[in-house]
Amino acid sequence: MNGIDANDEAGVRPILSFEQVCREFPVRQAFLRAPVALHALTGVSFDVKPGEIVGIVGESGSGKSTLGRIALGMMAPTSGTVRYQGQDLAGLRGRALREVRRDMQMIFQDPNSSLNGRMTIEQSLLEPFVLHKLGTGVERRAEIARLLDVVGLPASVLRRYPHELSGGQKQRVVIARALTLKPKVLVADEAVAALDVSVKAQIVNLLLELRRSLDLAILFVSHDLPIVQSMCDRVLVLYLGRVMELASRAGIRDGGLHPYTQALTRSSPVPDPARRLAGEDLLKGEVPSPLNPPPGCVFHTRCPRAMPSCKSTVPPLVHREDRHEVACLLYGESSGVPLAPVAPVRPLTPA
Ligand code: SF4
Repeated sequence: MNGIDANDEAGVRPILSFEQVCREFPVRQAFLRAPVALHALTGVSFDVKPGEIVGIVGESGSGKSTLGRIALGMMAPTSGTVRYQGQDLAGLRGRALREVRRDMQMIFQDPNSSLNGRMTIEQSLLEPFVLHKLGTGVERRAEIARLLDVVGLPASVLRRYPHELSGGQKQRVVIARALTLKPKVLVADEAVAALDVSVKAQIVNLLLELRRSLDLAILFVSHDLPIVQSMCDRVLVLYLGRVMELASRAGIRDGGLHPYTQALTRSSPVPDPARRLAGEDLLKGEVPSPLNPPPGCVFHTRCPRAMPSCKSTVPPLVHREDRHEVACLLYGESSGVPLAPVAPVRPLTPA
């Protein structure tokens, strides 16, 4: 089952589709013991449309970054299908694969590890053109000048080395380099997590502008739910490699429907000293090991609404109105519970 129908109500075909994607890693826990499977992703299905920003949120170990790497073809799924413009990535070889890879680029969290400290910014920006044998020297330099303008950097940075730039400037260089090959999809993996608040806002605004002006589809991987809620068109919530909820920004603005999304929302800091987080609403306990995920609903060990059936029944992803999908036994006919929303998220308790 695909998360969003290929011919959805807007009639726009997805640029990227995930169909029942699973990814396991063999892990050897002790010498001479047979490896066991670490379940990084299980049955993930959703689509991304051109020009759409889809946020991927969840705690550490939820499978967010694995999903981003699979999207780019940097890692193959154990099972399931990833399609780019309708083509199965697993079936692509040689030139066809290289062309698809040009269309999809990644921005990593740490710009220092993305830039070679021994290369000038100009050399770093020229590298993709050289590797893909694109353009003449004059054309390459003209394109670099244009890209610096797009990301708001002066031409003077070209002669500098990464250590001479601020964190925000380096991340802009990384974004400019990701744009050199005119991609159609960007995967931003915690791309603003290491930046100061003001620089973070600048980079978020830059990504929004690039989406608007270049019709870029962006997979925005982050653990920062407030940023994701503010900039993404839709949000995919992952827990232990499974989709808990997929909804529009509006659908998730007040905490969403799934108890995990609601707990994540309540656990997010708010920039208001007059409010404090209510202790009973915060996420408690540790994320269980993906080597041995809980049976039934994987969230049942931490869910404040867990019922006896949650320990044995895997909740299916239920389609609700307005393309909202949620995997929780509180919703859907399989639960025997009427299709009614849970109680709305309570406001944060004033201090
Ligand atoms: Fe909580 Fe049960 Fe829903 Fe899982 S299925 S989120 S344990 S209520």
